[in-house]
Amino acid sequence: MDSERIEKIIEEYGLQKFRANQMKDAIFNKSVSSYDEISTLKKDLREKLKVEQPLLCLEEHKIFKSSDKRTYKALLKLEDGRIIESVLMSPKPDHWTACISSQVGCAMACTFCATGTMGLLRNLSSEEISDQVLFWRQFIQKNGIDARLNNVVYMGMGEPFHNKTKVFNSIEELKNPETFNMGSRHISVSTSGLLKPIYEMAERFPQVNLAISLHAANDDLRTGMMPVNKTFPLEKLAEALTFYLDKTNRKIFLEYILLDNENDTLKHADELVDFASKVKPSKLLHVNLIVYNQTDSSHRQASRETATRFKDYLLDKGVSATIRKNLGRDIDGACGQLAVLDQK
Ligand code: SF4
Repeated sequence: MDSERIEKIIEEYGLQKFRANQMKDAIFNKSVSSYDEISTLKKDLREKLKVEQPLLCLEEHKIFKSSDKRTYKALLKLEDGRIIESVLMSPKPDHWTACISSQVGCAMACTFCATGTMGLLRNLSSEEISDQVLFWRQFIQKNGIDARLNNVVYMGMGEPFHNKTKVFNSIEELKNPETFNMGSRHISVSTSGLLKPIYEMAERFPQVNLAISLHAANDDLRTGMMPVNKTFPLEKLAEALTFYLDKTNRKIFLEYILLDNENDTLKHADELVDFASKVKPSKLLHVNLIVYNQTDSSHRQASRETATRFKDYLLDKGVSATIRKNLGRDIDGACGQLAVLDQK
């Protein structure tokens, strides 16, 4: 459900305009899971809408809960039977973040990523994207979780900028004060480095956070891991990031998965320092080091000690860096683990 669909319902069912506000209040503020809970609508209308206009255009297929209860992964079934994954996680007490998908599968074929092995099956619509947030809001409400959904990150299945129009529309919807009413600073988009949309995002959504899946800072290595680098090499990426920083003055997050004996030596750390120095002002960059989550690929996880040494080296050279906490490993809900291979 989104504002466009509510407008359509108002028109199609000949309802008075104020009904739109009642519906928005119930669906987005109160996070109702059924029309039965929208008591401001007449019973016969509620019954009709229940059958003809489901509150969500996706349905729960399966839910997994991590043993520490800080991560939930949902398999969500779309109207055409395709299944996507969406994750709700609590990086700190009382804070919940939804990690949402923008495509079924992904065309980018990054070698370390489970989603990349699926290929691209299709793009999601704007409503299918924002409905994942609505799904998690309902989930929090239904399960009596005593906290709000604070943040949304476009880091699930798919390359968001490969489905740019729908993703940008969904960001507008998340920001819409009449529906999701989320602040731009609570929304983050992660890209493998498609350049044109980075320039567009800087102009259109200067307050939305940008994260770059970097993972290597020399072109040969990065192209081997991420074919997108062949078309958009590091030099061009650095230019786009400098443009973004100039326009927005907002921090950019560089995601870097540490892979044993591939990109985790001090030589690689030095290349990262060099890349950071080409982005101006580099003090607005922050490196998130991620300890690889094992998928079926041949990559191996770097050790904790290696990660710490890598981080310390960056800090020593003046590059801001942290090792990111991994949530949801036991339910394959962590970074790079999202894939539904059995698409009926
Ligand atoms: S890391 Fe992101 S861009 Fe690369 S294959 Fe996975 S989902 Fe696609």
